[in-house]
Amino acid sequence: MKVTLVGAGPGGKGLLTLRGLEVLQTADVVLYDRFVTEDILAVIPDSAEKIDVGKHAGNHPVPQDEINELLLGKARQGKNVVRLKGGDPFVFARGGEELELLAENSIPFEVVPGVSSAIAAAAYTGIPLTHRDCASSFHIITAHAKNNKRPNIDFGTLAKLNGTLVFLMGVAAIGDICEGCISAGMDKDMYAAIVENATLNSQRKFLGTLATLPEIARINNVKSPAVIIIGKVCRFSTRYDWFSQKPLRDKRAIVIRVKAGASKLSDSLRELGCDVIEILCLRIVPLTSPGCMLGKKLENIKDYSWLVFTSSTGVNIFFDYLIENEIDIRELNHLKIACVGIETKREVNKRGVKVDYIPTEYNGAALAYGLTGLIKNGAKLFIARAKDADKDLTQILANAGVVFDDVPIYEKIRDMKKIGTIANIIASNDFDFVVFTSSSAAECFAEIAMHTQFGKIKAVCIAEKTAAVARSYGMEVHVSAEATVMSMVEKIMMISKIS
Ligand code: SAH
Repeated sequence: MKVTLVGAGPGGKGLLTLRGLEVLQTADVVLYDRFVTEDILAVIPDSAEKIDVGKHAGNHPVPQDEINELLLGKARQGKNVVRLKGGDPFVFARGGEELELLAENSIPFEVVPGVSSAIAAAAYTGIPLTHRDCASSFHIITAHAKNNKRPNIDFGTLAKLNGTLVFLMGVAAIGDICEGCISAGMDKDMYAAIVENATLNSQRKFLGTLATLPEIARINNVKSPAVIIIGKVCRFSTRYDWFSQKPLRDKRAIVIRVKAGASKLSDSLRELGCDVIEILCLRIVPLTSPGCMLGKKLENIKDYSWLVFTSSTGVNIFFDYLIENEIDIRELNHLKIACVGIETKREVNKRGVKVDYIPTEYNGAALAYGLTGLIKNGAKLFIARAKDADKDLTQILANAGVVFDDVPIYEKIRDMKKIGTIANIIASNDFDFVVFTSSSAAECFAEIAMHTQFGKIKAVCIAEKTAAVARSYGMEVHVSAEATVMSMVEKIMMISKIS
C-alpha cells in the first residue's frame, strides 16, 4: 500500500524517468490528468485501473477534494496507487495539497520528479535558461488568474531580477504579461518566445519581443498548453533550435504492428522527428493449456531429429512450456535446431542453446529448401510455430517427402478491441501515412478497420506482397525499394518531401 506522485514529464515517454516507468508498471491504480499523453498512458499495464481525473461530468475536472479522497480510499484498499501528472508533480500541480490528507492518515508516499514543461520547452527550442553572459537565474511563474481577472504578478520585482522569466498557464494572459514587464521597466525589445505543445511532434515555437509576441501568438492562434519565456537567452534559439531541424518534424505515422516489443522502424522515424503512433493489431494466445498438442507431441520427442522455430514468440512459448511443466531440457539433446531468421536464433541462444541451421534468406520457403537438403532419410521434424502459419514451409517439405509435425503452439488473434482506436485515428485525418511492415499487418489492420474509407490512406509497405494487400483494399500504396527498415525510412522521407 502506497501512493506515488509521479511526474510524467512534458509528453513523450522518452522524457519519463526510469523510476516513474518502474512505478507505473507495478501500479494497481493510476489517476492521471489532462496533460498526460497517450504515449505515457501506453506504458501502464492493462491490469491497472486508470482513472482520468482531468475530465469528469460535463468535461470539468474532478474537484481536488475528491481526488484527495480517491487517493486515500484506494490506498486504504491496500493498492499501489500512482498519481500521474504532466511535468513535475510539485510545479503548479497541487502535489503539495494531495500529500496533506495522506500524511494526516499515515499513508506511505513517494514523490518521483518529472521534467517540467518549463525546463523542457527551453531545451526543445534551444533556449539555455541560464547563460553566463546574460542570465544567472531563472524564475517559473504562474500566469493563471482566478475568475477571469488579471493575474496577480509582481512585475516590479521580476523586472529587477535580470533573470530568465518562464510563465506557465499564460496563453490567455500573454498581453498582460508582456505589458506588465514593459510597464515595470523592461526593454520593449527584450527577446521573448512562446512554445506550444513543447517536446511533442506538434510543438510550435514563435520568437518575438515583449512588444510583438502577444500579436504573433494571436495571429498564429497559439493555444494552451504553452510556455512563455522572456529574457535575453531567447535569442540563442535561432541558432540552437535542434528540434525544429528534424526532417520529419511535422509528420505523423501510424505504424501497424503484429508483434509487441520494440520496433526499429518506429525508433528510426521518431529519431527523425516523426510522431509515431503504434497500433498492435494482434494478440498472442499460447496454446499450452493441459491436453494441448505441444504436450502430446513432446511425449514422443525421441521420434524427432530436428526442432524448427519460425519466430521468437514461438521460441519463448516453447521453452517456457518446458520450464512450467518441469520437462528437463536434456530430453531435447538429440535434436538439431533450425530457425527462420536471426531474431529467432537470438532468442534460442538466450536459452543457452545453439542453432544448427538458419537459411540465408529469412523466409519459410528458404528454410524448407535448406532443410530438405540437410536432413537424412527418415528424419522427422518438430515444427513449433503459430496456428495457421504460412503454408510455404510445410508445402515444400511435404512435396520433398520430408516427414514433419506442424505443432501449433500459439495462436495470433485479431485484437478487435482496437476497432475504436483505429476508427478514431482514421476519422481524425490527423496523420500522414500508415506503415505496414508485413502483409499480415496490412490484412489485420484492414479487417479491424472494416468500414473505413481506405482510399484516403497513404500506405507505406515493406514489399510487394504487403503492397498487394494494401492495394486490394484501395489504399494509395508506396513500396520501399528493399525489404529493410532503412529502405522503408528512405521511402517515407521521399514521400514527405513531395507532399
Ligand atoms: N506540472 C506541470 C505544470 C502544470 S500547469 C509542469 O511541471 O510542467 C499547466 C501548464 O504547464 C500549462 O498551462 C502550460 O503552461 C504548461 N505545460 C504543460 N505541458 C506543456 C507542454 N507540453 N508544452 C507547453 N507547455 C506545457
